[in-house]
Amino acid sequence: MEDKMYEGKAKIMYNTDDINISLMHFKDDITAGDGVKHDTMTDKGKLNCTISKKIFEYLDTCRGIPTHYISSPQVNEQLVKKLHIIPVEVIIRNIAAGSICKRYGVRKGHTFKTPLLELFYKDDALKDPLVRDDVILEMEWCSASQLSEIKRQAHIIHQKMTEYWKSYELTLVDAKYEFGIDQDDNIMLADEVTPDSCRLWDKDGCSLDKDVFRQGTDMAKVSTVYNYIHDLIHADEIK
Ligand code: C5P
Repeated sequence: MEDKMYEGKAKIMYNTDDINISLMHFKDDITAGDGVKHDTMTDKGKLNCTISKKIFEYLDTCRGIPTHYISSPQVNEQLVKKLHIIPVEVIIRNIAAGSICKRYGVRKGHTFKTPLLELFYKDDALKDPLVRDDVILEMEWCSASQLSEIKRQAHIIHQKMTEYWKSYELTLVDAKYEFGIDQDDNIMLADEVTPDSCRLWDKDGCSLDKDVFRQGTDMAKVSTVYNYIHDLIHADEIK
């Protein structure tokens, strides 16, 4: 028996019979601009679930990266560890694109000297504002040691993901990571790692991620991009 815990823009979380395990359902919805732009895409849930599964399996092979991922019983569903999600989105940028260009006037395509980490408060109604460490601690969204641990893990994950995409001749421009805490106070990567949550550029600087949806209206093109990423990382399995 499953009952709905929470429904977000792109996923639904259900309770399962096991109090330590949740079921994450990936929807076919695609949104941008804090939900202002919305559409559905055939097979998006299946594609993102399968892409994220493959990436969490990869991260599992890298030592010292705990994640919530358990298994994927259906093509658009994953069993994951039940966590308290820290309401802070960790964004790490290798190259400037998106909101940082508007915020600080930095040129799109500028390469940062070292991966740049920014923190955002996860709140749709407030449009996920940028937050300082002091605010996070004052609001008690997590403790100081938890905050330093999520930053430490995010940098390691991001380094591994940069290498991962490089092996497919793609540049990881930036990515968003979310973390949660289990009953034993372990902090681990949660949510998803997909073209919804990162920017990927090919060698010509063309976007192979949700920017194609953010900037355009052609859903066939968006679908082509998600299918391309899916097929690229599953090439060894596709006969
Ligand atoms: O919008 P911005 O440029 O700050 O996004 C940085 C990265 O974080 C992008 O890869 C974007 O897809 C991702 N992101 C996300 N969820 C959000 C905000 C940003 O996955 N709520």
